Amino acid sequence: MAATEPTTVAPPAAHEGILRRQSLRESAARTYARSLPIVPVRARGLTIEGADGRRYLDCLSGAGTLALGHNHPVVLEAIKKVLDSGAPLHVLDLATPVKDAFTTELFATLPRELADDARIQFCGPAGTDAVEAALKLVRTATGRTGLLAFTGAYHGMTAGALDASGGATDVRVTRLPYPHDYRCPFGTGGERGAELAARWTEHLLDDPKGGVPAPAAMILEPVQGEGGVIPAPDDWLRRMRRITDDRSIPLIADEVQTGVGRTGAFWAVDHSGVVPDVMVMSKAIGGSLPLAVIVYRSALDAWQPGAHAGTFRGNQLAMAAGTATLAFVRENRLAERAATLGARMLGRLQGLAASHPCIGDVRGRGLMIGVELVDPDADDGTRDGAPPPAPSLAAAVQRACLDRGLIVELGGRHSAVVRLLPPLTLTDEQATAVLDRFADALAAAERSRQHHPDPTGPSH
Ligand code: PMP
Repeated sequence: MAATEPTTVAPPAAHEGILRRQSLRESAARTYARSLPIVPVRARGLTIEGADGRRYLDCLSGAGTLALGHNHPVVLEAIKKVLDSGAPLHVLDLATPVKDAFTTELFATLPRELADDARIQFCGPAGTDAVEAALKLVRTATGRTGLLAFTGAYHGMTAGALDASGGATDVRVTRLPYPHDYRCPFGTGGERGAELAARWTEHLLDDPKGGVPAPAAMILEPVQGEGGVIPAPDDWLRRMRRITDDRSIPLIADEVQTGVGRTGAFWAVDHSGVVPDVMVMSKAIGGSLPLAVIVYRSALDAWQPGAHAGTFRGNQLAMAAGTATLAFVRENRLAERAATLGARMLGRLQGLAASHPCIGDVRGRGLMIGVELVDPDADDGTRDGAPPPAPSLAAAVQRACLDRGLIVELGGRHSAVVRLLPPLTLTDEQATAVLDRFADALAAAERSRQHHPDPTGPSH
């Protein structure tokens, strides 16, 4: 943010009052608001300014939504253009020039084989709405109701998406092992772990007594985000494609979080060359405004008119902001930039891990980065060969980051993974500043833990 910009922030007293009223009036289910007690009033790029006048480097990016950071000029310009044009802002699912341009730009980014034969369904505004649409689509097209989904998955908060997420127990959902190098369920990790995971999947599907309800689809995240930043090996993904192809099971790739350059390819499936039958997209495609779609092969388009409806499927401002974002990422090769910068950041974090035993694992792809914190001195109660996760240390690191003006996210099964999801526009200098603050916060949290050891488990 330019130093000359006027400061209109509220005084600290107002900041406190807003936070107090929020805690009194908003639901007990509020999430980020608990761990990040800030009151954003202005933002630009990587930076958020709070009502207390403090500035923060935002590596949460609206849970991975802001591919271009906050208020990028091309996004603001696209929104203003629609507002100034007199175009209707609410149009249900009617055709408009704004939607036409969005669809054209989105299709240009897709794997060619899919783009040549694709249909698009504009869904309700959230990622979870698009997941629901995808599940309904494949169930209609196949006449089957079962679903194959993975351990550690996160697909959203509506009923069907929740069933597909790890932790759910819907009888129609068969839970399959997602390869996990660091906490490998087979105790091997690496290629061998992924091979065993694939073999288990194959075996289960072909076992007539395997108890698998006839699957309408397999749904997976190419990199699990909420599950703890776990990239699927490309070979394993190709294997899942073969397994589903051979058995006429549609493959759904949930690219809600991984899309639009985040992982170092425009779509995360591009790394492996896998072409899914359905792609679920949201977050970054709306350029910071709510937008969610599914794109799928025309052969699956067995819906009757009105089979999937919804009032808010025509957000013109989101489509315009999304078109500008998609075009900017494509034209400026930001996926490649994410790959290079992400690799550099991972390297530096791995260096940090060498001198901090509490860093159990550093992993990620592109600018989707996770640092799993562990208790290196505790007995291994998890039986996967890795030290137990350290959620209270992770929470302390998150707090120490905030104290140093850095916003990070926590994730993973045990909330012990510190997640970095910076905008793809991150400069080298900003990346250094982020990592400097993180390293300092980690050291501080470690020091205070040595002085006040905390034997408790998860902090929430
Ligand atoms: N799928 C994935 C992979 C996600 O990461 C998320 C959100 N974190 C969702 C679906 C759900 O999106 P939303 O929160 O917009 O409903």
